[in-house]
Amino acid sequence: MTKLIKELENEGRISEDEAYKLYDLDLFTLAKFAHKKRSTLHGKKVYFNINRHINPTNICADTCKFCAFSAHRKNPNPYLMSHGEIMAVVDEAVGRGIKEVHIVSAHNKDTSWQWYLGIFKMIKQKYPHLHIKAMTAAEIDFLKRRWKLSYEESIERMIEYGVDSMPGGGAEIFDEEIRAKICKGKVSSQNWLKIHELWHSKGRQSNATMLFGHIENKAHRIDHMLRLRALQDKTGGFNAFIPLVWQKDNSFLPIKQQADSEEILKTIAISRLVLDNVPHIKAYWATMGINLALVAQEFGANDLDGTIEKESIQSAGGAKSAKGLALNTFIELIQTAGLVPVERDSLYNEIKICAS
Ligand code: SF4
Repeated sequence: MTKLIKELENEGRISEDEAYKLYDLDLFTLAKFAHKKRSTLHGKKVYFNINRHINPTNICADTCKFCAFSAHRKNPNPYLMSHGEIMAVVDEAVGRGIKEVHIVSAHNKDTSWQWYLGIFKMIKQKYPHLHIKAMTAAEIDFLKRRWKLSYEESIERMIEYGVDSMPGGGAEIFDEEIRAKICKGKVSSQNWLKIHELWHSKGRQSNATMLFGHIENKAHRIDHMLRLRALQDKTGGFNAFIPLVWQKDNSFLPIKQQADSEEILKTIAISRLVLDNVPHIKAYWATMGINLALVAQEFGANDLDGTIEKESIQSAGGAKSAKGLALNTFIELIQTAGLVPVERDSLYNEIKICAS
């Protein structure tokens, strides 16, 4: 442990061997080092954006055991939005001042690349300045298998039709054995990383997630972070790391308890320390609740995602995020926590510091 503490005190890179020991440290030791790193990078700033999540369909060809969002016997409400319905949502949200639309879908066999590209084109033509964050690596992989379009061609089309950045979904846990148990058949970890590498090679940016608190263990989480760190060393294309707390309701995993607050905060702190080359750590309030996400800002996180407006994926699993948060509430909560709310764009350029 002495070597690990020395590495932390030196504020240099934590070696791979020592990284696997981080969960053995107590929460407050981790918090001390993670908060120091967070403060050096971002001071008291807490970043957020004004965004709208849209999940155009929940009909899915895949059967991830952790998932409560897709239409299945525990959540029998299949839907597929038409382009007109999607545009109506975008119109309304733009009227309220969103700067980003975040579009992620289930893997619906009745959708095609044309269907996806039509959405992006329609939005970009009407709102050229609205940032489109869309297409997880898992969706790209699904469409490749279904429509035989290479990753390279897929990415070129996304860029041509107006996708500005990629979200970090579909990463789950990279460990192949765990992956085979929770999401067999979905994009492999190797291909998830390959797709993001390709996206970065086009000068584009993306985020990376990790789904934790289900059947994985702590070493799997560290392995996940180290694989991301290695790719980030090569490309520098990840903006934010987003640890997602697995939600237990309506899933097919035989687990009764979700990760508790200590486990969540430790994971946030460790991600800040291991991912020394990823600028932002997001406490995604949709999976951990806004209060804990605010506390996480003292444990290494510096971002809360955004107002979201409507959330369907995590709320299907029991998260209290279905309705999003009003902007003034969001800002007040950050200020009450003694922190400085900073509205950012999707690529972390600062738009406005919200003074109290
Ligand atoms: S996580 Fe995504 S790919 Fe897996 S079942 Fe749910 S919607 Fe489908």
